Amino acid sequence: MKASWLVPITLALIPVLIPATASAVNIYPIDRATMLTGGKFDFKVEFEKEVNPEQVSVKINGKDYQQIWQKKGEFIKNEDGLNASSLVLKDVDLTSAGDYKIEVSAGKETGSVNWNIYQTPAKRQAKNVILFIGDGLSVAHRTGARILSKGITEGKANGRLAIDDLSDMAFIGTSSTDSIAADSANTMSAYMTGHKSGVNALGVYVSRAKDSLNHPKQETLGELLKRTTNMSVGIVSDAELEDATPAAVVAHTRRRADKSEIVGMFYDVKPDVMLGGGSAYFLPQNVAGSKRKDDEDYIARFQQAGYQLVTDADSLKKKGAGAEKLLGLFHTGNMDGVLDRRFLKNNVTKKFPDQPDLTDMTQTALDVLSKNDNGFFLMVESALIDKASHPLDWERSVYNTIMLDQSVAIAKKFAETHPDTLIIVTGDHTHGISIIGTVDDEKSGTEMREKVGVYETAGYPNYQDTNGDGYPDNVDVSKRLAVFFNNYPDYYETFRPKLDGQFEPTIKNEKGEYIANPAYKDVPGAVLRTGILPRSIDGGVHSVDDLVVQASGSGAERIHGYMDNTELFRVITDVLALGHDK
Ligand SMILES: [Zn+2]
Repeated sequence: MKASWLVPITLALIPVLIPATASAVNIYPIDRATMLTGGKFDFKVEFEKEVNPEQVSVKINGKDYQQIWQKKGEFIKNEDGLNASSLVLKDVDLTSAGDYKIEVSAGKETGSVNWNIYQTPAKRQAKNVILFIGDGLSVAHRTGARILSKGITEGKANGRLAIDDLSDMAFIGTSSTDSIAADSANTMSAYMTGHKSGVNALGVYVSRAKDSLNHPKQETLGELLKRTTNMSVGIVSDAELEDATPAAVVAHTRRRADKSEIVGMFYDVKPDVMLGGGSAYFLPQNVAGSKRKDDEDYIARFQQAGYQLVTDADSLKKKGAGAEKLLGLFHTGNMDGVLDRRFLKNNVTKKFPDQPDLTDMTQTALDVLSKNDNGFFLMVESALIDKASHPLDWERSVYNTIMLDQSVAIAKKFAETHPDTLIIVTGDHTHGISIIGTVDDEKSGTEMREKVGVYETAGYPNYQDTNGDGYPDNVDVSKRLAVFFNNYPDYYETFRPKLDGQFEPTIKNEKGEYIANPAYKDVPGAVLRTGILPRSIDGGVHSVDDLVVQASGSGAERIHGYMDNTELFRVITDVLALGHDK
């Protein structure tokens, strides 16, 4: 039997079901890109095959692109030796707000995308913007930080985190162009450029170019502020400064691992304050600890450019606040987390015994940046929330969350005397972490799992903060939080904090697979959890769950409902009126 009525309905659905990206032609910026008026970007068309340059037509709202951009694109007949052509225009912009349709054709190859160019309000709403990123920050990290820092009795928290009282809130979606699961590169890049990108990419779209530094770029917030305003820019992180989150403020690369090149990008933009780890990529190759493959000495170059150099907590305290431009490099790699550095002291890098706390770096950055009457943008990252969550070490990641919160408290105090400041606190992606109750050593039984209390048998943990520093006096209490990750390789669950140093759940076997680290096998009561992740993965992975973003101050009301991560760029550019004739 023929159901002839099905045919027209099916045909009518086709244009809806096939997204523009399914075309043989790839166009960058991609479909549905949202851009700031006057923001710079690279335009690239990738044809599937080699095409004749005379056949190439690029129309922007019906007009030839050369009429819009007053220049001819670079036609690449065989890109990277492929039997395929590309057209590239670097560093272009669109200065009129509105919807744009870009139609491309060359012979039989055709494609189109739609962009929206937005203009910001004419009047600047905030003088300063402070963006806090808890790398990997998930809801359980915050709940854990509140319980360990403030305590909880009879169902009510005994105090509130600084983050808890920020006035406005939204959920954020974090997925990338190529994958539902994101990393810190494309997620922070979305905040810093307003464009989506692919996993491991910073400030570029993932095109087919072979050279990681030759993908279509989008101007970063750091570049935009330095090009179009007299505002100051500050970057603070306890990771390597070249790590994805701090790098995204300035960088353009397909590979976040291009760390030597990223230092050069910092130098090109020259943020006024840079504090963190990662000196290995600033030092020339002949210096011990360097990871560069050349003789460039970026510490010397920054000093010649007028930067005050500080290398430990003491010099940060003495010379930091008075500086006009400040470079603080406190570790060759990632700095040490707060649980080890301040409390356990068993696993602190011996070569760097005097690293500053994130709170010290935040305060000094504010001292330097607030000297500029034109205002500033400051990004502060608590990076080790993520770096402790990968190895399933919840205590360390929660301690680093408390440190993030104490840094937010410093910014809130600054905003009391500088009310024209917007404070935003969020993560960049989440982890699969959850609190389910308590682990009580006093419970009977020899197996540790019998000591896990749930529902009414959980009761309350017995952490205490008698000295009022915001951290428990002792992390290894007899009745602690029961916190588990929902994704893991094979590992031994010990139900206890790791007092000698960060948890190392796996080791590599001779086949190159990650197996449970036998060092924890004989911890009393440890149980083997058989992994649910591929054996090529050494720890827990990022989750796709929404993030929470909170904000207070000038323009915070723009944060509400569900937002895509690219929309945070729009919030920042709107409150600073960056896309309007000045
Ligand atoms: Zn991560």
